Amino acid sequence: MRQQHSFSPTLREVPNDAEVVSHQLMLRAGLLRQVASGVYSYLPLGQKVLRKVQEIIREEMNRAGAEELLLPAIHPSELWQESGRWDVYGPELMRLKDRHERDFALGPTHEEVITSLVRDEVKSYKRFPLCVYQIQTKFRDERRPRFGVLRSREFIMKDAYSLHADEASLNEVYQKMYQAYARIFTRCGLNFRAVEADSGAIGGTDTHEFMVLSEVGEDTIAYSDTSDYAANIEKAEVVFTEYEQLLPAEEKPLELVDTPGVKTIDQLTTSLKVDPKQMIKTVAFEVDGELVVVLVRGDYEVNDTKVKALLKAETAELLPEERIVKELGSVPGFLGPHGLDNVKILADHSVKGMKGAVIGANEKDKHYLHAQPERDFTVEDYYDLRNVVEGDPSPDGEGRIKFAEGIEVGHVFKVGTKYSEAMNATFLDENGKEKPMIMGCYGIGVTRLLAAIIEQHHDQDGIIWPETVAPFDIHLITVNPKKEEQRELGEKLYQQLQEQGYDVLFDDRQERPGVKFKDADLMGIPLRITVGKQAQEGIVECKSRKTGDIEEISINNINQFINQRR
Ligand code: ATP
Ligand code: MG
Repeated sequence: MRQQHSFSPTLREVPNDAEVVSHQLMLRAGLLRQVASGVYSYLPLGQKVLRKVQEIIREEMNRAGAEELLLPAIHPSELWQESGRWDVYGPELMRLKDRHERDFALGPTHEEVITSLVRDEVKSYKRFPLCVYQIQTKFRDERRPRFGVLRSREFIMKDAYSLHADEASLNEVYQKMYQAYARIFTRCGLNFRAVEADSGAIGGTDTHEFMVLSEVGEDTIAYSDTSDYAANIEKAEVVFTEYEQLLPAEEKPLELVDTPGVKTIDQLTTSLKVDPKQMIKTVAFEVDGELVVVLVRGDYEVNDTKVKALLKAETAELLPEERIVKELGSVPGFLGPHGLDNVKILADHSVKGMKGAVIGANEKDKHYLHAQPERDFTVEDYYDLRNVVEGDPSPDGEGRIKFAEGIEVGHVFKVGTKYSEAMNATFLDENGKEKPMIMGCYGIGVTRLLAAIIEQHHDQDGIIWPETVAPFDIHLITVNPKKEEQRELGEKLYQQLQEQGYDVLFDDRQERPGVKFKDADLMGIPLRITVGKQAQEGIVECKSRKTGDIEEISINNINQFINQRR
C-alpha cells in the first residue's frame, strides 16, 4: 500500500479525551476514530490488525474442532423472554421496536439464539458434541463506556457454544477451548493468566477468565506468591481461620454514643479512636427483590458477587438511601444490625466472636459501643462474604495472596443446562429418555484484544506490533523521492518485496524525513527499510521497531536478512 493514498491519518498530539495509552495510540496511529460514546470506526490500519487477530482465532478454533457460523445481530424479544433474560439483563440490553411495534434487542451475546437453533435441529444424543463459533458485532449499552475499545458499546466478539449429552463431553471440549485460548493469546504476543472466575447464579460449574496483565485492567487478580493459584477477586475464596485476628475486648453492655456527622469507617476511626478491626460494617442489599443485610468487619469490604453466589441470585444491588429510611427505618451512614427486625442478616466469618464492636445505631448521628453478635443482634449464619486482601493465606494452602490488575480478554464457561432448561432444548439419550442439553460458552473480546496488545507492546514513540498481528510486515521509506536513484530503488524494492509475499506499506510521500520516521515509529510495523543517501551503492538501512537495532544491508542480501529475522 502506498502511504500517500492510504487512509491512515496520524496525529502528533495526544488526544485529550483518551486516558489510557492504547486508546491514545490507536487514535494517533490512525487505527480508530470515535463516532459516538463507545462506538468507533476502524480505519484500514485498525481493520488490518483486526483481521490478523481474527485469523489467529479462526485457525485455533478450527483446530480445536469448532465450526464457524454467523448468527443475527437482531434478536426477537420472545427468545429473551423464554430464557427469562429480557427482564433481568437490564439497561445494558439495547432494545428497539420494528414498524409493527414488536420488541427486539441488539445481541449482547447469543446463548438464546444458539439454544433455539439447536433445539429445533438436533434431537438425538448421536449428534453431540457440537461446537460452533462466530466472529460478530455485539452491542451492550455499558454504564461507563471508556478507555476506547477496551469497554465500548459496540464491539466485536468471538463467541463459541458447545452442546453436549453429558458432563464428561463438556469437560473435554472445555479443556480444548481452554487450550485454544492459551494458544491464541500466546500467538498474539500477550502476557496473560487464566484465572478462576465467578460462575454467577448458576453456581458450582467451572469458569475461567483470561486476563492480560496490565495496570489499566479493570479486574483485580488475586494470586498466590508461591503457587499457581489465581482467581478474580470477585471469586477468590477467603480461608477463614477462626478468631485469628480478633482484638481483645471486655464484655460490656451496649452503649449509645453521639457521633455527629460521622458516617464512614475512616471518620469513626478518627473520632472514636477505635481500630476498624473493632467495628462492624453494615451493608444493605436488594438481592433478587429481597432485602438482605450483610455484616463484615470494619477493615474489610463486602463482596457482592459472593452475596449473589451464596443466595443463588441473579442480582445484588446496594439498597438506595431512600429505601434504607423507608424500609429499614434507619438512616444512611448509621445503619447497624441492632433492632433490625424481619430482615435477613448474614455475616462474614470475620464478624464471628467479635466483642466490644462499634455499630451504627439506626439513628442520625449515633453509634453503639460494645456490641456483640448473637447477644445484641441475630445473625442467620457466618459465610465467606468479603473480598480477599493482600497477605491473606492462599486458598490452596500455599503462600499468600497478592494482587495484580488485568484486562479480561476471554472467558470460558461451563453453563450447564441453564438455557436448555429455560428454553426446553432437549434431546433423546441412548435409552430414548428426554434430557436437557448441556452447554459451554466461550467468548473472546476481539476489539478489546487489540487494545490489550498495545497496552503490552508500546514505547514512548508508539506501537510495537508483535509480528503475528502487525498490520504490515515491512514499512518501506524513501527518504527523498525527488532524488531519482532513491525513487527508483524504492519502487524496485516495493515491487520485489510484494512479489515475495510481504505486505509492505510504502512511504513515498513528499514529507520531511523526520515526519516519516515519526509516523513509522508510531505505526509500529516490525521492520523499517529506508532507502536514502546510499541508494546509489545499493545499500539500504534496516531498523527493527522492537529493538531499535539499525543495520546497513546491501539489496543483494536483503532477502536473506529478512528471512533471518523470522
Ligand atoms: P466485563 O466483565 O469486562 O464487562 P463480561 O464478563 O461482561 O466482561 P463476557 O460476557 O464474558 O464479558 O464477554 C466475553 C468477552 O467479551 C469478554 O471477555 C471481553 O473480552 C469482551 N467484552 C465484554 N464486554 C465488552 C465491552 N463492553 N467492550 C469490549 N469488549 C467487551
Ligand atoms: Mg466475563
